[in-house]
Amino acid sequence: MTKVPVTLPDALPVVLISEVGPRDGLQSISRIMTTADKCRWLTALYQAGLREIEVASFVPAALLPQMADAAAVVAHALTLPGLTVMALVPNLRGAQAALAAGVHKLTIPVSASAAHSLANVRKSREQMVEEVRAIVALKNELAPHVKIEAGIATAFGCTLQGTVAEDDVVRLAASVIEAGANESGLSDTTGYANPAQVQRLFRRVRAEIGDKTGAAHMHNTRGLGLANCLAAFEAEVRTFDSSLGGLGGCPYAPGASGNVVTEDLVFMFEAMGVNTGVDLDALIAARDVLKAGLPDEPLYGMTPEAGLPKGFQPAPRVSK
Ligand code: ZN
Repeated sequence: MTKVPVTLPDALPVVLISEVGPRDGLQSISRIMTTADKCRWLTALYQAGLREIEVASFVPAALLPQMADAAAVVAHALTLPGLTVMALVPNLRGAQAALAAGVHKLTIPVSASAAHSLANVRKSREQMVEEVRAIVALKNELAPHVKIEAGIATAFGCTLQGTVAEDDVVRLAASVIEAGANESGLSDTTGYANPAQVQRLFRRVRAEIGDKTGAAHMHNTRGLGLANCLAAFEAEVRTFDSSLGGLGGCPYAPGASGNVVTEDLVFMFEAMGVNTGVDLDALIAARDVLKAGLPDEPLYGMTPEAGLPKGFQPAPRVSK
């Protein structure tokens, strides 16, 4: 196992946990959370130390009524100092609305599977790369400081198409960077990934696009979510997507449920001595806020069930 740097001079967070529950989680369940409950949940996540949150997705309300209040949710998130407010946009129209709302970072899903791309955004992969290019041009005009991530979806396999060629994934990551995205990460949209594949593919992508390699977005569909995150960490990935209580999956990848549980991911890294900047007790307390807003939705997570081990010490923090 790679030696983990636990004694960085300033003890700043070593990994960035990017919470995706308010977007990925909410858009894959049928219940609609009120704007006020979403805002309370965001505040609780922020208070636990999370500093990047995907707060909404800018899509037509007719398609995803759960996201109809995206602009209001962004407005609340922007009041939390130091938070990177992210939103998913599938196209230029969504990007326009997200930029008008004032987000700091856009994430655009680009499917490596030709079949998933058509099902998810009704565009070919090549058309999506052109969409990324158009979104980059728009943000350069309206809000040049905004960052753009193009996440390669179905990077490890697809429920519609089956195998996805690794060459396709690497080529697509290079294409979106060439089109002007600031970073490109890999998403296991369908929960097909295994740790050896995760390491191999992230290393190949890094060899191609270097430090523009973005987040690992893993799913726990087959119980390998954390193992895949650790594999990505060993392949130098330092940003990880996860959702509180494991809420969500993908509505267009049938049977693929279960984002990695933020609580378990934070526990894994903190127990290893890898600072996440997140306070586990406050994070676990945030579940109550989520539950209050979505009373009948099942929440997952082993760490919240079992509690923290006796004598548990989090990774070293910045001295205040
Ligand atoms: Zn997901």
